[in-house]
Amino acid sequence: MSDKNVTENFITQIIDADLESGKHSQVMTRFPPEPNGFLHVGHVKSICLNFGLAEDYQGLCNLRFDDTNPAKESIEYAQAIQRDIEWLGFKWNDKVMYSSDYFDQLYAYAIELIEKGLAFIDEQSPEEIREMRGDFTHPGVNSPFRDRPIEESLDLFKRMKAGEFEDGQMVLRAKIDMQSGNLNMRDPIIYRIKRAHHIRTGDQWCIYPMYDFTHCISDALEGITHSNCTLEFADHKPLYDWVLDNITIDCHPHQIEFNRLNQTFTMMSKRKLNELVEQDVVDGWDDPRMPTVSGMRRRGYRPQSIRQYAKKSTVTRKPSMIPMSMLEDCVRQDLNASAPRIMGVLNPLKLVIENYPEGESEMITAHNHPMDESFGTRELPFGRELYIEADDYKEGANRKFFRFTEGREVRLRYAYYLTCQKAIKNEAGEVIELRCTYDPATKGGCSEDGRKVKGTIHWVSAEHADDVELRLYDRLYNVVSPKGMDDLNPDSLKVLENAKLEPGIVEKSEGVQYQLERTGYFFRDKTHEKDKPVFNRIVTLRDSWARQEQTEEQK
Ligand code: ATP
Ligand code: MG
Repeated sequence: MSDKNVTENFITQIIDADLESGKHSQVMTRFPPEPNGFLHVGHVKSICLNFGLAEDYQGLCNLRFDDTNPAKESIEYAQAIQRDIEWLGFKWNDKVMYSSDYFDQLYAYAIELIEKGLAFIDEQSPEEIREMRGDFTHPGVNSPFRDRPIEESLDLFKRMKAGEFEDGQMVLRAKIDMQSGNLNMRDPIIYRIKRAHHIRTGDQWCIYPMYDFTHCISDALEGITHSNCTLEFADHKPLYDWVLDNITIDCHPHQIEFNRLNQTFTMMSKRKLNELVEQDVVDGWDDPRMPTVSGMRRRGYRPQSIRQYAKKSTVTRKPSMIPMSMLEDCVRQDLNASAPRIMGVLNPLKLVIENYPEGESEMITAHNHPMDESFGTRELPFGRELYIEADDYKEGANRKFFRFTEGREVRLRYAYYLTCQKAIKNEAGEVIELRCTYDPATKGGCSEDGRKVKGTIHWVSAEHADDVELRLYDRLYNVVSPKGMDDLNPDSLKVLENAKLEPGIVEKSEGVQYQLERTGYFFRDKTHEKDKPVFNRIVTLRDSWARQEQTEEQK
């Protein structure tokens, strides 16, 4: 793949043509989130497209908060969004912008429309307005206020601003075409009365502009060249253009619609994500199972892999569904190259080497990365008592099981060949300890006589290992296209409280992604840590869901 952020697509072709023809000399894009929730992986596609295009073309991208809906917005959300964009590695142009920066200008443009006879104050109730708007099969009906004198509308609009009327008592509507086949063009509401405390303008305004009126004007005021949005805005484009064509403004950005990111096993809308948070189904917006940027960060995904995923999710005009496994594969590929290898045991089973001298220990050299020598080596303590993975022992196993069963010889990674002599059970008949012998001539994991063993397993020294808690995360939903709470995966979190980690890792683990050999990638999570270090499983080494994804898609 090229080192550009954005793979060639129909938007880059439009930009290329605009630069070629001299229509524009510099690309100017924007990312316009509403500060009413945390960013999710769908937003990442838009971020990587808008910021990515600006980078690729040496242009600029504004971060503009679409803060026209005061009831649902908060400063905390706005801060979280900025943190996430920075973490993804993007820089916005200049200072952060807000639609509310333009409230005065927007108001003035509304006055201009009224003065031109292109907007009027409607005193019908919201229900009446909705009713008379018609639908796809019924044309709209003109409001009885549509042809009221310009002066009257002007006066009422000013008094609306001055706070003389109740919320919902009247609205400002553009005067376009109630017969239009496009519902958005049937005299859309462009201002409403709403008494709500705004995150930036406080109680200064009691009227707020609607999205369709605000967005195009904000774009134009900022000199945006290409205003990229998702396909559901295609029907709004005639309105975007109508507003800019009918006010006195120099700039007319090109609204371009692309396909949104949809992902299997995932619900993305902020409203649905907020429900999960509110109902304590998850541990906040940054729960490692959430499809949010903050969730992915806490889980241990690196921004590189998320950007790689966005780059692979093609930008077209066709709706599409991307398998979640594609995201996980990007994470695996990134971590396979970048994560140091260590050893840890999820479900420890004690192992005693009967012929190893009591009270002694030695150091074993281990490689930090099998494919990359620059990661170097480390020294691991080895002694008479170890922990291995409980399921690396199987009673009465047949010859196809290459790990421990009584009488079988197995290699301990980087250490020695061990032969399992006896499994000790408790009263309940559960295996609680393995008694083994080792061959001192196999240090480093190979024998002088060329004797082969088929299995290699990981281990930690019982005396030196650190106690840790490991959290194994799986998909939040267990159906390909989740519809709601009923589709939640009951096994999306498994907590292993008695896990063990090789010594020397915990102290330096913050911010480092590790591969626990044979078991997956892990990342320290200090969010609620109490007595033991906690590590999240970022992703398994292999995909265990691919088959379900395929079969369910064929249904
Ligand atoms: P949600 O439905 O999750 O609340 P939204 O579109 O209302 O999403 P905004 O904050 O308005 O959220 O979105 C900011 C930008 O991100 C918009 O330009 C929007 O088109 C884009 N965006 C949102 N969801 C997706 C998605 N799934 N794929 C691509 N772009 C998206
Ligand atoms: Mg929105």
